[in-house]
Amino acid sequence: MIEARGVHKAFGSTQVLRGVSLQVARGEVVAIIGPSGSGKSTFLRCLNHLETIDRGHVAIEGETLATTDAQGRCTYVPDTEVRRICAKTGMVFQHFNLFPHLTVLENLIEAPLVVRGLARDVAVARAEALLAKVGLSAKRDNYPSRLSGGQKQRVAIARALCMEPDIMLFDEPTSALDPELTGEVLRTMRELAEEHMTMLVVTHEMGFAREVANTVAFMDQGELVAARPAAEFFADPGHERARVFLQHML
Ligand code: ATP
Ligand code: MG
Repeated sequence: MIEARGVHKAFGSTQVLRGVSLQVARGEVVAIIGPSGSGKSTFLRCLNHLETIDRGHVAIEGETLATTDAQGRCTYVPDTEVRRICAKTGMVFQHFNLFPHLTVLENLIEAPLVVRGLARDVAVARAEALLAKVGLSAKRDNYPSRLSGGQKQRVAIARALCMEPDIMLFDEPTSALDPELTGEVLRTMRELAEEHMTMLVVTHEMGFAREVANTVAFMDQGELVAARPAAEFFADPGHERARVFLQHML
């Protein structure tokens, strides 16, 4: 579960998030769409502390990460708590961000070994199960440079899952892929959704948003201006800027 209320974020004098509020219930899939520069990635990064917020409230699985008092002072919980809470989320990026000098299996077990202190055989067993799940058991000992973009992204998803997150954040996971490779990644994400993973997905894939997301949210100029059940959103996004955006996308 994610709860964000009134999240503000500026880079220097540029106000990038202007009071973004969004709730993602346990097991829910929310798609965030919107034009380039509207703050989608920044918002996602604020949820797992890759960016700090200036004002507002963020809670993950019911645990407060940051909150703001009546005087407008924003405070985070202590660092150890931040790390523990943010470990509940896994993130997948547009550009995979795999470790190039590690094999597929080593990519998966690195964080479980180093961050969680898992025994090697336990981590390997978990990694092998996840590689089977994303259909890449045969690539176990390959280096990322030997994989297609779609395979790299499925490894990135398996790597995030290896840390057993409660929530998965996806930032345009298929945008860097050739069109013929997006299907395999979307299929993996759809399977995760069917297993009731809580997911927040920034995407330009309107088909995925329509078919897999429970809720579609539209961001523009640092504001989350509309959020509706997917079917409803595509029938009528309920906001003029969202309507114009959809007309260009569909
Ligand atoms: P896209 O669809 O192109 O990925 P986006 O909706 O994800 O766009 P963000 O990447 O969140 O948008 O960026 C929102 C605004 O914040 C942009 O104007 C961007 O230039 C600015 N921005 C993002 N990160 C930083 C940063 N680290 N420093 C300064 N400005 C930034
Ligand atoms: Mg982005």
